[in-house]
Amino acid sequence: MSQALTRRTLLKAAAMGAAAAAFPRRATGQASPKVVVVGGGFGGTTCARELKRKGLAVTLVEANAIYTACPFSNAVLAGLRPVETQQFKLDAVEKGGIDIVRQRAARIDPQARRVVLEDGSLLDYDRLVLSPGIDIRLDALSGYDEAAAAAMPHAWKAGEQTTLLRRQLEAMDDGGTFVLAAPANPFRCPPGPYERASLIAHYFKTHKPRSKLLILDAKDSFSKQRLFQAAWQDLYPNMIEWVSLSSGGKVIEVDAKTRTLVTDFGRHKGDVVNVIPPQRASQIAQVAGVADRSGWCPIDPVTFESRLQPNIHVIGDASIAGGMPKSAFSANAQGKVCAAAISSLLRGEAPTEPKLINTCYSLVAPDYGISVAGVYSPRNGMLTEVEGAGGTSPVNAPPAFRAQEAVYAETWFQTITSEVYG
Ligand SMILES: Cc1cc2nc3c(=O)[nH]c(=O)nc-3n(C[C@H](O)[C@H](O)[C@H](O)COP(=O)(O)OP(=O)(O)OC[C@H]3O[C@@H](n4cnc5c(N)ncnc54)[C@H](O)[C@@H]3O)c2cc1C
Repeated sequence: MSQALTRRTLLKAAAMGAAAAAFPRRATGQASPKVVVVGGGFGGTTCARELKRKGLAVTLVEANAIYTACPFSNAVLAGLRPVETQQFKLDAVEKGGIDIVRQRAARIDPQARRVVLEDGSLLDYDRLVLSPGIDIRLDALSGYDEAAAAAMPHAWKAGEQTTLLRRQLEAMDDGGTFVLAAPANPFRCPPGPYERASLIAHYFKTHKPRSKLLILDAKDSFSKQRLFQAAWQDLYPNMIEWVSLSSGGKVIEVDAKTRTLVTDFGRHKGDVVNVIPPQRASQIAQVAGVADRSGWCPIDPVTFESRLQPNIHVIGDASIAGGMPKSAFSANAQGKVCAAAISSLLRGEAPTEPKLINTCYSLVAPDYGISVAGVYSPRNGMLTEVEGAGGTSPVNAPPAFRAQEAVYAETWFQTITSEVYG
């Protein structure tokens, strides 16, 4: 055995000793507390890495070998980048000493503190973190089922759905109509539908200039609305029509065969139709008993521990994080706060009150970015936006400012993906 290896072994033993001293042994005799994280997206992977940094033994359960990121997937739809630039693996995370289980978590037994995997094997935990993202609610919109999602893709989980919608847009004739149905709150990425409409308008302007976009909305207002609408007038005059809830925009039924969306006031047929249906916390959260009747998961805003099941924490899109929007930026911030809280709890210490930040960039065109930022802290049991601490890009900014924000958006994506997966 080489001297270097002996030294490394000693260092490892010393580090393990330190971790064992910091985290008391379990009553069951297990060496040190064990944390299982379900979901290798922005929230789960961040949390797993942070827990590992704090000296805890972590297992990350992820169903897919390749994670396809949603941020910037609207640029894929517009033909501005290939889908491969959205794809990430967990290899570097595994090299960092986290056990990766590449299968689906099928059930949770909160009493036994155990995750049941798809193949029947079991993972015990002291603390469990769920960051499983969203499911599309196939029961919420009449006519929208798996078959309808193939004809009228939602593309709200990036991957096959993104490339399907891209192919439909490419195949559409110049002069066609693209119809987008946007859901009521809450849903994943509040500015996402409007960024999507903007970038598809950019694609039309540059490739199919006689085409039109119609947005049917189940809301009367939306994120960064003034900025989006001012930009649409500037960049895409007479191309985008937005129909609000009170003007009859809420889609109540879809007919996949004829690509028609039905509202209380009429029927809208599109050449390409993108339905973004209502959503809820992904299935494992439902079967774990951490989701309430809304379909989302109530949490303690200091620790992200479920209000419904002890020792289970929920972060990211699946959680009800008060004023925090469902974004990758939020999921990443929550992953770090949750890891710090778990580390404190396992040491028998009180977790510190967090302050969390979110920033959401949107592209209106490749060289035109806008953003919204907010700071959140626990108040009356909820994560609440700190007044005066955030805001949006200025309404009357010059083109150079918008171009700079587009660069910031791209830089943010590179930074967060290399932090989480690099
Ligand atoms: C079009 C679009 C654009 C967006 N743009 C932005 C943006 O610009 N900025 C931004 O901050 N956010 C953006 N978002 C939002 C962002 O993608 C989500 O908020 C973020 O991915 C949430 O992270 P998460 O960890 O909660 O869930 P996800 O990232 O969805 O990760 C969940 C993971 O859990 C896994 N999983 C689920 N169930 C199980 C199970 N039972 N067993 C094992 N694994 C499981 C899934 O395979 C998945 O990998 C956008 C979203 C969309 C749709």
